[in-house]
Amino acid sequence: MYLYIWLYRGFVEIDPPIKAKLVRFKCPLCSKTFPNLWSLKTHFKNAHGNLTRCPFCGWEGKVLTSHAYYMVERDEDHAILYYLLSSPQPEDKEVLKKAKKIAYERLKYEP
Ligand SMILES: [Zn+2]
Ligand SMILES: [Zn+2]
Repeated sequence: MYLYIWLYRGFVEIDPPIKAKLVRFKCPLCSKTFPNLWSLKTHFKNAHGNLTRCPFCGWEGKVLTSHAYYMVERDEDHAILYYLLSSPQPEDKEVLKKAKKIAYERLKYEP
């Protein structure tokens, strides 16, 4: 009985839901794809986190996150940029929520 439960749990954990395999998220700058938004966000910070020039409008400055934050309401590309650069504990949770929703819809990629 014990063995059966152990095997059953092993089976469930090894086999991920089919849906998770189909949807991936695409980096807006280098087009690499990731299985979830969180991995894309980690990639973005590592690979593109020290940009001093905005990839969408050409704005130049040291704090790209603040620039993206001010643009969230105005432009979807900047909302995505803000979400990808934001810290886990942002000052403004509502803006982050909005940015995350836009990022989810726009970066979703179904191969
Ligand atoms: Zn990238
Ligand atoms: Zn910009």
